[in-house]
Amino acid sequence: MEMGKGRGAGGSRQGLGRRGVAPTKCVCPQCGYETEKTRGVPCRTIRCPKCSIPLVGK
Ligand SMILES: [Zn+2]
Repeated sequence: MEMGKGRGAGGSRQGLGRRGVAPTKCVCPQCGYETEKTRGVPCRTIRCPKCSIPLVGK
């Protein structure tokens, strides 16, 4: 009655691959400037208008 209990349990990782953790905002690590994240556009490609450094996902 313990079919596949040993190996199959931790096999499905696909549930964790979701985008639930994806950032919704981009923030400047230096001054705290925030802007809404554009979907499909990485935060690091956006620069802070004040500091001219790449933003990071939040
Ligand atoms: Zn800044």
